[in-house]
Amino acid sequence: MNVTEEVISQFDKFVIGNYPRLPRLIVKGEGCYLFDSEGRRILDMFPGWAVSALGHCHPKVVEALRRQAGELIHIDNTFYSKPQGQLAQLLSERAFGGKCFFCNSGAEANEAAMKLARLHTEPAKYRFITVEGSFHGRTLATLTATGQPKHHEGFLPLLPGFSYVPLNDIAALESAFTDEVAAVMIEPIQGEGGIRAASAEYMDAIRTLCTQYGALMILDEVQTCMGRTGKWFAYQHYEVEPDVMTMAKALGGGVAIGAMMATETVSKSLVPGTHASTFGGNALACAAAVAVIEAIEEEGLLRNAIEVGGYIQRKLLALKERFSVIEGVRGKGLMVGVQLTIPGVEIVNRCLERGLRINCTHESVLRFMPPMIATEAQIDSAIEILTGVMEEGTP
Ligand SMILES: *Cc1c(COP(=O)(O)O)cnc(C)c1O
Repeated sequence: MNVTEEVISQFDKFVIGNYPRLPRLIVKGEGCYLFDSEGRRILDMFPGWAVSALGHCHPKVVEALRRQAGELIHIDNTFYSKPQGQLAQLLSERAFGGKCFFCNSGAEANEAAMKLARLHTEPAKYRFITVEGSFHGRTLATLTATGQPKHHEGFLPLLPGFSYVPLNDIAALESAFTDEVAAVMIEPIQGEGGIRAASAEYMDAIRTLCTQYGALMILDEVQTCMGRTGKWFAYQHYEVEPDVMTMAKALGGGVAIGAMMATETVSKSLVPGTHASTFGGNALACAAAVAVIEAIEEEGLLRNAIEVGGYIQRKLLALKERFSVIEGVRGKGLMVGVQLTIPGVEIVNRCLERGLRINCTHESVLRFMPPMIATEAQIDSAIEILTGVMEEGTP
């Protein structure tokens, strides 16, 4: 048995099989590349499911982690610690001036947001409106919020009080609203749902209706946060500000951290005893996230996301002219989807064989979420591999 086979058989015996894993053992990550145990290099255009947005093992994040690990790894929220306060300020100043609560994942951030909405609004308000095709996490409440029946299978009955409305249908949103609505929760651009953006009119309508009914507007920016779309947060492409916003994935540069930001007024409802997280906001995770924000600014990565994002979209649109199975290309910055007329999994697997990692979601949407440090030359390599695969003929 080689080392890959040994690890796979260890997983078979000791790790629960809830992920369909590819038979590769990854041993190192560096920038836009992964390396497997057989020394093969993989160009990673979907690093860590959008977590490693600065690429793998960004030197500034590694350095911050080394420094912080030597001083204080974890301190619970009984005390104050510097990195947590510093991170909260950096985030607040780059968003709508709110206050932060820290946790460890996207689902937890959304849980916190929903609990806060229940606490902050009148007792009679218990309902949540979310969007069809959305993805908000895998805990019971966030799974219920997720507007995709396939994820609900096996878990019925779910939590009461959730309604799902079609994306960008303002009339449907209006008719779903009642006095019992505590919040509307939406991703500005659906990620798992196939890179589908909310329209400006739709975001305006949510804002107006939430204000009118005394409900909260919650933005799930778990996938769109930290500059991936070319602005710190995707809502900044619109004219609205939310009451609550959640983030995770890219926030810690690979370290597990989630955050919920709420306006000063709304944040007052999260008083001691109502919510908590043991690991939330610990020194190590917050130091990593501070380094992520500094690196994005020092290296001009917001601009890179716009420029390289535009470049990849133009390249993919050119492919659309050549291959009729490509129906469309959509996205913002470095969050790009290619709508196919056929299932995409075979294309994704064949790209990996040739050293390119991309993702397929919703069966027929190829998802590119390159690291924000990606160069045009790396995009060229990715497009070249994809072109080779497409030229071979599609299933
Ligand atoms: C990934 C994701 C989540 C869930 O995050 P976890 O860290 O896996 O709990 C929630 N919302 C969106 C939009 C996501 O992309």
